[in-house]
Amino acid sequence: MKLLLHICCAPCSIMCVEQCRKEAIDVVGYWYNPNIHPATEYMARFETLKDYAASISLPLIVESDYGLRHFLKLVADNPDDRCRHCYRDRLETTAKRAKAEGFDAFSSTLFISPYQAQDVLKEIAETVSKEVGILFHYIDFRPYFREGQQRARDCGLYLQKYCGCVYSEEERYQKKLNRMNRE
Ligand code: SF4
Repeated sequence: MKLLLHICCAPCSIMCVEQCRKEAIDVVGYWYNPNIHPATEYMARFETLKDYAASISLPLIVESDYGLRHFLKLVADNPDDRCRHCYRDRLETTAKRAKAEGFDAFSSTLFISPYQAQDVLKEIAETVSKEVGILFHYIDFRPYFREGQQRARDCGLYLQKYCGCVYSEEERYQKKLNRMNRE
């Protein structure tokens, strides 16, 4: 099977690619993450992935447009429900690209993260699969999350400190912001 694997970041890709290869899946990585802010963080994650992919001979397809304005339009009206739009946009774009490029199926490294809403992700991927007309190949990568993060640290890969969007960056500092606002 030829699989287009959407990759959110290099650390999350380690075990996902390894598991796919163990199943003899011919995997190609796909970079499309307009949710990552600011641009310096986007570049840091992208550069890390490019270097890592080269080191394991993983072919990459890269979406040339960053897509920042598009992403902000999707989430700005309702930041509290942003993840659903973020998942949908990235999975739908991946599915369409997979179909256009003649892949058999698509998936995402988002399926490794215990921090993402896995039920929502899966439901959206299945919906997108039907709409676009391409197979969604589900593997529950979560059992490999901790090992993947440790391997990333051992390899000296850049590890991000927040999910990606500016709202998640705010959440990272929420306690500090609250303290400052009280002073
Ligand atoms: S918290 Fe993460 S998944 Fe949710 S919208 Fe922000 S970047 Fe996307």
